[in-house]
Amino acid sequence: MALLLSVGTRYRRLNVPGEEDFIGAGIHFCATCDGPFYKGEQMVVIGGGNSALEEGLFLTRFAEKVTLLVRGDSLRASQILQEKAANHPKMEIRFNTTVHEFRGKRRLSGVVVKDGKSNATEEIHPGAVFVFIGLDPNTGFLSNLVELDDWGFVRTFDNMQTSVEGIFAAGDARAGSTKQVASAVGEGAAAALMIRQYLEKLGGRRGYRGD
Ligand code: NDP
Repeated sequence: MALLLSVGTRYRRLNVPGEEDFIGAGIHFCATCDGPFYKGEQMVVIGGGNSALEEGLFLTRFAEKVTLLVRGDSLRASQILQEKAANHPKMEIRFNTTVHEFRGKRRLSGVVVKDGKSNATEEIHPGAVFVFIGLDPNTGFLSNLVELDDWGFVRTFDNMQTSVEGIFAAGDARAGSTKQVASAVGEGAAAALMIRQYLEKLGGRRGYRGD
């Protein structure tokens, strides 16, 4: 028998008051899916990595303005994306800025942000907030089964095998994956071939062909 782990990742949350209340009602995690609903409005993007910049630049197609809130004083995104964002007329980047609370009644209506340098807080009123602060792998239940890296992603070795013989891993939750749908699909297909080879070898040892 063989097992393929392809458990994926989930969007990291800010864990600030109000966040859970307005998910889908002003707080979103997918620009392609939800950006068009806010055509002509002000949008906020949280994060400073490749996802935040890529998605933020995409949102400029719909937004009147996109404000990127970055908690530190630098971006983690690639140089090309940084240059595109810095030069885009609809994008503003606010460094040292953190979100402290989301407010509203049935929908998001205000975001309390704090400037880390001056310690001043203010409430801003974007139409929507898109959170892109990274991904967490859905591997909590695997920690006693296979070896995980420091961030909880499944370590793989030759032929996409995990630390346990017969258990393979593919996709976003695999350590070293590129976190792109296209590569996750490719990894799944490659792992299936590796599993076939493994089962054939296993079958050979047990007199079974593994088909
Ligand atoms: P990253 O881990 O690269 O970036 C996360 C960003 O969110 C950082 O700016 C981080 O700030 C910030 N952040 C984390 N936690 C908080 C918090 N609680 N509050 C505020 N800000 C926070 O994640 P991404 O999702 O951007 O990318 C994940 C991986 O996928 C990366 O390897 C990336 O390169 C890859 N990717 C590649 C793309 C491409 O090649 N085109 C497109 C998209 C993603 P800080 O820097 O201070 O820690």
